[in-house]
Amino acid sequence: MAYSEFDIIKNFLATSDLSFSRGGVELGIGDDAAIIKPPLDQNLVVSLDVLASGVHFPSDAEPDVIARRALGVNLSDLAAMAADPLCFTLGLTIPEINENWIQQFADGLSTVARKFNCPLVGGDLSSGPLQIAIQVHGLVPEGQATLRSGAQIGDSILVTGTLGDAAVALLGLGYQSHLDSNLELLGWADPQPLFERYFSPSPRVEFAIGCRGLVNAAIDISDGLLSDLSHILRASGFGAEIEEVTLPFSTTAQACLSEKMLLQACLNGGDDYELCLVVSQDLKDRVFQAAKKFDLPLTEVGIIKDVDGVRLKARDGTMVAVKSDGYIHF
Ligand code: ADP
Ligand code: MG
Repeated sequence: MAYSEFDIIKNFLATSDLSFSRGGVELGIGDDAAIIKPPLDQNLVVSLDVLASGVHFPSDAEPDVIARRALGVNLSDLAAMAADPLCFTLGLTIPEINENWIQQFADGLSTVARKFNCPLVGGDLSSGPLQIAIQVHGLVPEGQATLRSGAQIGDSILVTGTLGDAAVALLGLGYQSHLDSNLELLGWADPQPLFERYFSPSPRVEFAIGCRGLVNAAIDISDGLLSDLSHILRASGFGAEIEEVTLPFSTTAQACLSEKMLLQACLNGGDDYELCLVVSQDLKDRVFQAAKKFDLPLTEVGIIKDVDGVRLKARDGTMVAVKSDGYIHF
């Protein structure tokens, strides 16, 4: 049976698994537009990411992992703002209608959508090279969103989880990295445990909501710590000092890369989707308590200073100015 655009929407997208009902969504898929009703005291927080095949994921990746990654990276932007996911729309361009592919893609989406109570409420479908545009909508009580611009001198810089894992996973998949051409896996180490870190990012939504009111500035780490921290620094008008010995690495990443390469992967690797938070000294303990509550590793890696850009205190104690070498698209 040849599927029409409408069959695809009805059978695979407008399903109770993916397009489930929840408070705040008055009308989902089916009409000319969805209807959202945010509570009066909340702001609607909106973000969109486009993922193109061969650029944001390997073109031969499985449909369910592409889907989990596409929704995950969008939800990570909401986490950076301390917003609670509400719903999302999907702009999908596919080269051909392949029932099996769409079913797996929808399954991947619904896994993440269910986990974050964030249903699909509409979108568009077209033929063309594989590309996925997702727009997420979230809610945050008025005045409680975390912006990039609030960092103050003397604040601590904290990061969740471990860094550099996604870069190691990409190398393990055999893809050329935009990083140093010397970035090579140590032959004896197995990067397999890190594949999920690349394909299925864990947006730190619950923790971010648990830290509302405690954080001066935040960003999610999509392009490497250096590039993303630099966005906070530019928006806030300060610089930062980072200590290499404090940077959090997974044991797998440590087994896969040399110390020097590990630093590269962390600073410039990207795709980790952890959070970088800037917190004043008097509220730091409470942020660590929130991390503990959600069983999330949290590490202090540096401090906001009145300097230019980012300085790195290397393992040998020397101080070096580091230049951002994050992924540049054009
Ligand atoms: P229109 O031509 O008025 O834009 P469409 O035929 O594109 O309407 O869409 C019909 C309904 O299906 C709408 O509610 C729309 O939001 C939904 N829809 C279309 N494509 C998608 C998609 N990729 N994901 C989710 N919902 C979709
Ligand atoms: Mg349309």
